[in-house]
Amino acid sequence: MAEFDVDLFVIGGGSGGVRAARIAAGYGARVMVAEEYRMGGTCVIRGCVPKKLFVLGSHIRHEIEDAAGFGWTIPQATFDWPTLIANKDKEIARLEAAYTANVEKSGARIVKTRAVFEDAHTLRLATGEKVTAKHVLIATGGAPNHGRMIEGIEHVISSNEAFHLPELPRRIVIQGGGYIALEFACIFAGFGSDVTVIYRGDNILRGFDDDVRAHVRSEMEKEGITILTGCTIEKVDRYGDEYVSHLSSGSSVASEKVMFAIGRHPNVANLGLEKASVAINPSNGGIAVNAYSQTNVPHIYAIGDVTHRLNLTPVAIREGHAFADTVFGKRDVKVDHADIPTAVFSQPEVGTVGLTETQARAQFSRVDIYKTTFRPLKATLSGRDTRVLMKLVVDGVSDRVVGCHIVGDYAAEIIQAVAIAVKMKATKADFDATLALHPTAAEELVTMRTPTARHVRQAAE
Ligand code: FAD
Repeated sequence: MAEFDVDLFVIGGGSGGVRAARIAAGYGARVMVAEEYRMGGTCVIRGCVPKKLFVLGSHIRHEIEDAAGFGWTIPQATFDWPTLIANKDKEIARLEAAYTANVEKSGARIVKTRAVFEDAHTLRLATGEKVTAKHVLIATGGAPNHGRMIEGIEHVISSNEAFHLPELPRRIVIQGGGYIALEFACIFAGFGSDVTVIYRGDNILRGFDDDVRAHVRSEMEKEGITILTGCTIEKVDRYGDEYVSHLSSGSSVASEKVMFAIGRHPNVANLGLEKASVAINPSNGGIAVNAYSQTNVPHIYAIGDVTHRLNLTPVAIREGHAFADTVFGKRDVKVDHADIPTAVFSQPEVGTVGLTETQARAQFSRVDIYKTTFRPLKATLSGRDTRVLMKLVVDGVSDRVVGCHIVGDYAAEIIQAVAIAVKMKATKADFDATLALHPTAAEELVTMRTPTARHVRQAAE
């Protein structure tokens, strides 16, 4: 008789857990996956996918507005939020079923229940059943974090609820300056809501290149979104169907919904980690892991958002795959977390890869910046008041392009391809040697000839 019930027990059927389970089962491991909510996890059920569907839907407003300059007369368009929600829910249910089927096809078994550690090799299911496992993968993801308890916090929604609102709010206040807050701000504004963004820092998109931050803010403000920085919501009062957010600046904003998107915390609570002696990383609150996603307990691994490294779906998937290769494929695979492209699906969107100007200047003695802003061709006829930003950050000594930052339509699509060049360590000379594709916005990336800034760090005396 086998020593353990299964070779691998995966806690969490999200992006990372599903990939790990399928690959491990493919190597012949006996795999069980526990999912307490819906197969597919955050990305599929209440993250990337429904969010992008909302972005696509709200962007149609721009297309309709822009059409007139091209000769189109479009009768007054109307928008029906419940139709969008119902169609989105249908697509998410289809994806959930596909994820379930793919896991089952791989030979792994799904248990639709919460699982927690009983000891380092035993998992307890909500049904009371106990399962012993040779290896355990913690892939429990993360959850919205509302921060400190303020008066009226019970009135505040997170992105989870934003996907299921029965009606489109006419006015919404969103606290947060990160990508989720801004994406939802643009989504609601696109559908016609009056949006106010509240952020405690000096500017939105902390961690992104400063030019990107300034550019996105100005574009969002041009779209009529109010952005109040340097303040926080201190209290939320309810008056019937209306809420009033009281700000630290002394002013207040009325709205029909108040949403917080101020951060996410790794799902580590009540998992029984102490019973398995799994250590937490004190610097970020996630599960502490090494380069192979192995915890301090050698047969227990953790991947994805629960480790709070880089909280992105492709990262969780790659970590899950690398774990399965390492443990069941007899092939040690580490995930390279450098030069991972990311997007913000604001409107216009952001695509970015590599270092910001500030990071490059801290790292390299000579940094050349190539930057341009311009009116996109479409805007010449549509009349839309918008500009595109393209920026290359170059190590002035090796000539390597170490960062690329784009704000404009299709920035996310463009940056995916640029990321290959950056990952391959392409130089500015390589970019210059590539012929432009005309007429596109992206051609600017290979036609910027003269640095707009050159930073040289003087050697210490
Ligand atoms: P998850 O996908 O969160 O899966 C964890 C699963 O574990 C969940 O299904 C949960 O129910 C389950 N679970 C937790 N505890 C237990 C337990 N004890 N027992 C059983 N099951 C349990 N990333 C991108 O790359 N691009 C984007 O555009 C993007 N947009 C996003 C938009 C929003 C609004 C949000 C919230 C996130 C977005 N992300 C995006 C991030 C992305 O969703 C996550 O990085 C990704 O889902 C992480 O995958 P994971 O496998 O680590 O965890």
